[in-house]
Amino acid sequence: MYRTHTCGELRASHAGQTVTLAGWVNRRRDHGGVAFFDLRDRNGIVQVTLNPDLPQAILDVVSDVRFEWVLQIEGVVQERPAGMSNPKMATGEIEVVAKNVTVLNPSKTPPFMVNTDNDLPDEHMRLKYRYIDLRRERLTNNMILRHKVVKFMRDYLDKQGFIEIETPIMFKATPEGARDYLVPSRVYPGQFYALPQSPQQLKQLLMVAGMDKYFQIARCFRDEDLRGDRQPEFTQLDLEMSFVHRDDVLDLVEGLFTEMIPAVAPHKKLYSSPWPKFSYKEVLERFGSDKPDLRFGMELIDVTEILAKSEFKVFQSALEAGGVIKCLVAPKSAEMSRKELDALTEVAKSFGAKGMPYLAVTGEGVKGSAAKFFKEEELTALKEKSGAGIGDLIVFSSDARAVVNKTLGGLRLWFRDKLDLADKTMMAFAWVVDFPFFAFNEETQTWESEHHPFTMPKLEDLPKFETNPGEVLSDAYDMVCNGYETASGSIRIHRRDIQMKMFQMLGLSEEDIQAKFGHMLEAFEYGAPPHGGMAPGIDRLIMLLADEPNIREVIAFPKNQNGRDVMADAPSEVEAKQLKELKIKFE
Ligand code: ASP
Repeated sequence: MYRTHTCGELRASHAGQTVTLAGWVNRRRDHGGVAFFDLRDRNGIVQVTLNPDLPQAILDVVSDVRFEWVLQIEGVVQERPAGMSNPKMATGEIEVVAKNVTVLNPSKTPPFMVNTDNDLPDEHMRLKYRYIDLRRERLTNNMILRHKVVKFMRDYLDKQGFIEIETPIMFKATPEGARDYLVPSRVYPGQFYALPQSPQQLKQLLMVAGMDKYFQIARCFRDEDLRGDRQPEFTQLDLEMSFVHRDDVLDLVEGLFTEMIPAVAPHKKLYSSPWPKFSYKEVLERFGSDKPDLRFGMELIDVTEILAKSEFKVFQSALEAGGVIKCLVAPKSAEMSRKELDALTEVAKSFGAKGMPYLAVTGEGVKGSAAKFFKEEELTALKEKSGAGIGDLIVFSSDARAVVNKTLGGLRLWFRDKLDLADKTMMAFAWVVDFPFFAFNEETQTWESEHHPFTMPKLEDLPKFETNPGEVLSDAYDMVCNGYETASGSIRIHRRDIQMKMFQMLGLSEEDIQAKFGHMLEAFEYGAPPHGGMAPGIDRLIMLLADEPNIREVIAFPKNQNGRDVMADAPSEVEAKQLKELKIKFE
């Protein structure tokens, strides 16, 4: 038997017991002939005391031991003397007085320490030695949290009558708007499987198969540019239900998350229950984003009417071109320096604005680039509508509506971070519904599906397909939290004729449709039930619950920001023989 207990579980109630532990040396200290090892395993850390009266053979072993050696310790649990307990350690009331020490495996000096999060090594080192980095308490806890979340999901959905079904990884292209990863077939040279960008088609086919309520902790593969916080593969809670309307799906997922958050992350507060539900149009108008952060106010305020007769050229020309004028009130920011305001103007420009007029509301009246153009009655109406008071900064955007919303939405988040406006303990979940069905791709001058091509349009909008596709709304929905899109889903098309129409709108030829989606269209002819579902992302959720800055911290073996696995060094070249078998030659 390697051990009788884990390192983290010993308490004062174990005092007097002889125990055997196994784990890693987290820290070693030597004090007047006595050595202290902090022994660590996944469950925690315990102090082991090695007295100088141990047999010489054992003392010889002890003197060699260094960080991260793997030891087996036999000893007696003893309460620490009064005043010596360590309230910061769960096992801080006791120590284990060693009787025997066995080295299970020595360790080279590790490339970095895992017993502290100060001076973290650079990410390359952490990922190269990920199996050491994961020993860090913080990462170990992230893995445990991840396990709890997934277990909660499984248990909850099981109780709601869902069944978990696995679907293939080697399949056919399932479009979610990214490039596919391809797997060459040896048996059929020149042919490829595609890794699913999501199990979308398969879960719909499971509905046709009568499986009714399906879920899966599903891996999705998308070959996209890895800007920011993306991973080429990521995990979703993929689910699908038959005979449901939109709100049946939303209620199910809202119930799951509302019960799960306090159970797995009791330090987090929910913003509201029930969750707010906004239309896509409303969130853009109010927050300038389709994934609003609701943890703070600072909503966008439309002041087009108030400033309709403004003498300010910038406003006039925007209005003449059919645009709007909106503003944001940043609290306690009237004193921002010229330099900061210039930097902020650059931020506004990065969202498409041509500039960023502002007014600082001070005790001596308003100041700022455009102050002299504001008439007294405009200022009064502006302050009344926006609620701006002394000490506040009002920033404006005047342009086409979409540009204005995007600019102010971006500035709103900039102020959130600068002024620390968002409560970090809050999980502000909300629904966004009524998305547009199509998005126009300016580059290719074609219509694309805003969600994915299996999403049901609002039936009453069907006639607009030919006349004004931009106005067609869909039965798609997003779950958002703290400024992130944390899930999306939709009611699906289950009728062949509508699905056909959708593919045609996307510019697919008859042959293309048959070759790519013939199996789906055929399935819809064999009694496809009405169905819908969604897919909450798991990585980002854990990131938010664990207060981590990026998803790599909550994935056991993530790729780096350039899509490489630096630990195993993948992707890597393969043997010429393998390529030959696949009949693949490189140019
Ligand atoms: N397949 C979709 C996605 O991955 C989710 C869904 O519509 O259920 O975003």
